[in-house]
Amino acid sequence: MKPLQFAIIGYGGMGSYHAKTIMQKSSEVVAVKGVYDIKSERQDVAQADGFLAYESLPELLEDETTDAILIATPNDSHKELAIAALKAGKHVVCEKPVAMNTAELDEILAEAKKCERTFMVHQNRRWDPDFLMIRQMYQEKTLGDLFQIESRVQGANGIPGDWRHLQKHGGGMLLDWGVHLFDQLLFLIDSPLQTIQTDLSYILGDEVDDGFHSYLTFENGVKVIIEVGTTNYIPLPRWYVKGMEGTALISDWDLNGKMVKATHEKTAAPKPIQAGVGLTKTMAPPREDATEVLSLPAVETPYPSFYANFYDVVVNGGEPIVKNSEVRRVLALLETILAKGNN
Ligand code: NAD
Repeated sequence: MKPLQFAIIGYGGMGSYHAKTIMQKSSEVVAVKGVYDIKSERQDVAQADGFLAYESLPELLEDETTDAILIATPNDSHKELAIAALKAGKHVVCEKPVAMNTAELDEILAEAKKCERTFMVHQNRRWDPDFLMIRQMYQEKTLGDLFQIESRVQGANGIPGDWRHLQKHGGGMLLDWGVHLFDQLLFLIDSPLQTIQTDLSYILGDEVDDGFHSYLTFENGVKVIIEVGTTNYIPLPRWYVKGMEGTALISDWDLNGKMVKATHEKTAAPKPIQAGVGLTKTMAPPREDATEVLSLPAVETPYPSFYANFYDVVVNGGEPIVKNSEVRRVLALLETILAKGNN
């Protein structure tokens, strides 16, 4: 098996993470031939990390020894770079969000078709273990049918970096984290989206959103809350899901959490408790034998890694796990939310 030779455009946070971490872990299928970044200091870092730094973009594109190009630059540059890479005869992996809007994506996809090259978007969070646990619970009905799913990522560091603050570069948290969380949920729920309402947050005074709340309903009755926040000094759990037979909570990416399931044992009614200055039976904890506490399910990763799948698509004509039609559906949704704003 000969690994696909990659050149990387953009050696910032994510470009260097691909080169030094993700591609290293997938070294059976991909290898880094060289990188190019418009900032000379990033070229220096790439060389210090042991990679060849192409002197220019044309030099990178014209390298006949490479098979594919990874685009890891700010969002507004993806379209132009993707089309240039495809025209140069290369397969392309593009970072998320794939482009600024669906019109740009359609141009890329038309070029990929014309050039008969593979174009795949790095929606890597479909492989996150916490998401795979939720997916397993949903599909295997571990807690019965799930009817409410809450997916949150919350930090307290504001919007990071430089270009993410600016609209013209495709900044803002909806495009940054929103694209991951919407991608996961639309990939998970096998039913058409019925309604969506989104409230974008501008607490930090940037021209782009610093977070949002989104409420979605699906035709099969599932209701979803998606939240991204950058001013949450106390974050809520990463996942909170309710099923007909129980509730699950995943606190964080370290997979702390639990499931609590109904036992359906015939037990006495719960005893009323003192709650604040009142009394309640409704909100009292259930009797001990009415529920069981379970560990989160062990996840069997049903997929190979992103790059293993990319290799399979390019070399064996395999099925892409991240389909461009799915990527387009998410982008169209984000585009609509942004166009509507909070009006
Ligand atoms: P970054 O600012 O850290 O790095 C971007 C780099 O691209 C910079 O070094 C910059 O000099 C370079 N660059 C800009 N325009 C260029 C051009 N035309 N040609 C060559 N180099 C150019 O940003 P980042 O955090 O690495 O984000 C890059 C992309 O990766 C974005 O699309 C972002 O959304 C995505 N990303 C994805 C994930 C993920 O988990 N999939 C995580 C972080 C970032």
